[in-house]
Amino acid sequence: MTATNGAKPKSVMDLPGIGPATAEKLRTSGFADIMSIAVASPSELMEAAEIGESVAQRIIETARAEADVGGFETGDVVYRRRQQIGRITMGSKSLNELLGGGLETQAITEMAAEFGSGKTQVAHQCCVNVQLPVEKGGLGADALYVDTENTFRPERIVQMAQALGMDPELTLARIHVARAYNSSHQMLLVEKAAEIAREKPIRLLVVDSLTSHFRAEFVGRETLANRQAKLNTHIHDLLRFGDKHNAAVLITNQVAARPDVLFGDPNRPVGGHIVAHGMTYRVYLRKGKGGKRIARLFDSPHLPEAETIFTVDEQGVHD
Ligand code: ADP
Ligand code: MG
Repeated sequence: MTATNGAKPKSVMDLPGIGPATAEKLRTSGFADIMSIAVASPSELMEAAEIGESVAQRIIETARAEADVGGFETGDVVYRRRQQIGRITMGSKSLNELLGGGLETQAITEMAAEFGSGKTQVAHQCCVNVQLPVEKGGLGADALYVDTENTFRPERIVQMAQALGMDPELTLARIHVARAYNSSHQMLLVEKAAEIAREKPIRLLVVDSLTSHFRAEFVGRETLANRQAKLNTHIHDLLRFGDKHNAAVLITNQVAARPDVLFGDPNRPVGGHIVAHGMTYRVYLRKGKGGKRIARLFDSPHLPEAETIFTVDEQGVHD
């Protein structure tokens, strides 16, 4: 399919003059999506895909026309949009304070931790809490949950809803869950999310976890550039969803031990610079004694680094 038959180009293969072989060459050079081509220079494409200058120019022009590259907007427009930012209570006052008043819309918040630390619990709690009316710390809206590890548990939602005096059935009906079977499917689900958001008031999108499929599928050094390029596209799709729908985006992330760390906690969130730069807020969770959890905010545009304690029990997330 080419762009000339009236259909809008959606993937790199839909751009004029790009067949499977050229698309593959581009992909391995990090040009996996329309946006990356839209912002490329002709010489970069010429080298990556072994094509002539006029072909490269034509490809870039089409990609620019299609990609949502965005331009300038005036400060008052940005200001008005930022005044619409909403916050969702996370169930614990101290956790809310750590994030400047709750889980923020038009932003991506990362919960990184070892297995069993409570990331999925926090995500479940937020799916319940977003439904609360504004005066109770919610946004009176629905949640989307992209489940990559098969850990979404409706039984847990029932417990959390009951603890808040909410109707469990109605609460479950406002959480739209999708299993993501691989990283491509996971990326595609963000498009599906946009479709649902046209019909329902969605103010929270959870991806639990952001990185597990990417890590499992792209193994070995030679696949790293490709993995990071895809992850970058995915993160930007998520952020665009959050901006467009004034929704909070909550993602969970795994950690891995770094061999070069000699003192302290050797674990670091995975995903490298792409994840580090893509997040608005980064929270690191640790398991403490009893049901206690320690949350540390370690990267935010305007809040100080800080640490706080909360608990997870049958009723959900608490102080
Ligand atoms: P992660 O997503 O970080 O791997 P989870 O969010 O699945 O971790 O956390 C699992 C932990 O949450 C359990 O070890 C337990 O401490 C706590 N938890 C899960 N369900 C309940 C429950 N019904 N009652 C009390 N604690 C629970
Ligand atoms: Mg989990």
